[in-house]
Amino acid sequence: PNGRMASIKMSGGIREILTRAGEMEEEGRSIIHMEIGRPDFDSPKCAKDAAIKAIEEGNVHYTDMAGAYDLRCAVAEKYRRENGMDVDADKNVVITNGAMEALTASFLTLFEPGDEVIVPAPYFSAYADEIAISNAKLVAVPTKMENGFRVRVDDIAAAITPKTSAVLLNSPNNPSGAVLTKEDLEEIAAVAVERDIWVISDECYEKFVYDGGHVSIASLPGMAERTVTISAASKTWSMTGWRIGWVVAPEDMRPYVNKCHQNLTTCANSFAQAGVVEAFAGADADVEAMIAEYRRRRDMVVRWLNDIKGFEAATPAGAFYAFPKIAALGMDGFKFCSWLLEEAGVSTVPGEVFGMPGHIRIAYCRAYDYVEEGLARIKKAVESL
Ligand code: PLP
Repeated sequence: PNGRMASIKMSGGIREILTRAGEMEEEGRSIIHMEIGRPDFDSPKCAKDAAIKAIEEGNVHYTDMAGAYDLRCAVAEKYRRENGMDVDADKNVVITNGAMEALTASFLTLFEPGDEVIVPAPYFSAYADEIAISNAKLVAVPTKMENGFRVRVDDIAAAITPKTSAVLLNSPNNPSGAVLTKEDLEEIAAVAVERDIWVISDECYEKFVYDGGHVSIASLPGMAERTVTISAASKTWSMTGWRIGWVVAPEDMRPYVNKCHQNLTTCANSFAQAGVVEAFAGADADVEAMIAEYRRRRDMVVRWLNDIKGFEAATPAGAFYAFPKIAALGMDGFKFCSWLLEEAGVSTVPGEVFGMPGHIRIAYCRAYDYVEEGLARIKKAVESL
């Protein structure tokens, strides 16, 4: 392959692991899935009812390309109320097909061929593909487990070159669970302003912070005009299949994001948008219940991980993943994860996929007992080594 094909990696992702796990299940093996971040909660009832009603009432056509007005208003209102941002439904918001399309539309808007994008590692695996598809270059800045995987501002500053277009933040982080503090964000903001670079802030897991709180970098002084904030209904309300996300962009950039978005997917699904309007209005209790349950699972996961010989784990402050170090076992992540799948029937993801070898990612977004069985299997297998 040449051209763009040469830079798009075709193997080694989460999908390949899922495929192998699926084959094993077809062969009759019992598999515990800890690889994919697909929450097990049902979507809020109010959202489901609203989507059904929307279909029944004929809301089955194109919406405004930038998103249904009432949903854009709900998004804008959320950021004004919860995040201290000055967001306008018409000037700043585009509704997309999940956070994934929000990222793609933003990357296509911002990046020129050869631009560099600074990404703290470990990072959500799709960033690498999406940056490659946008013809830009991912510049990884490693973080350290000892520092809770929080990126150090000096490392970001040192990675900036004349080709740097943006720094891509993801707090709470997938896969490490790291949550950047207000002080971290203030330092990063100061560098972004001084060196004149964009910040793209993927805040999909904003609701799931167990220690500390969430701060949107766009709310800091001087940042609204250089920050693109991305989020989605997917994780917030356990609505991954509804495919609704959004971009909050500066006013002068938003028409370009909208142009890219229209040419990628025309508009987001009409009745899914109607459902998400109701999730904004009436699903706070669902979110509270999810937060409490994720916190309970997180505490259990950390207890187990610290009890497995050869594993070393930080306590994730947010999201629903743990990212233990397995380097002491003397296997690389790919080898370890495929061994673990065959040996114990537990499906996990190698750290290499997230730009940080020597670790694996464990998703704890399935039922408590199910996750606990997975950890018991891991412990038994590892201790038989
Ligand atoms: N960003 C991060 C950090 C994610 O973890 C995910 C999904 O796992 C996405 C974006 C994509 O979200 P969506 O399903 O809304 O496209």
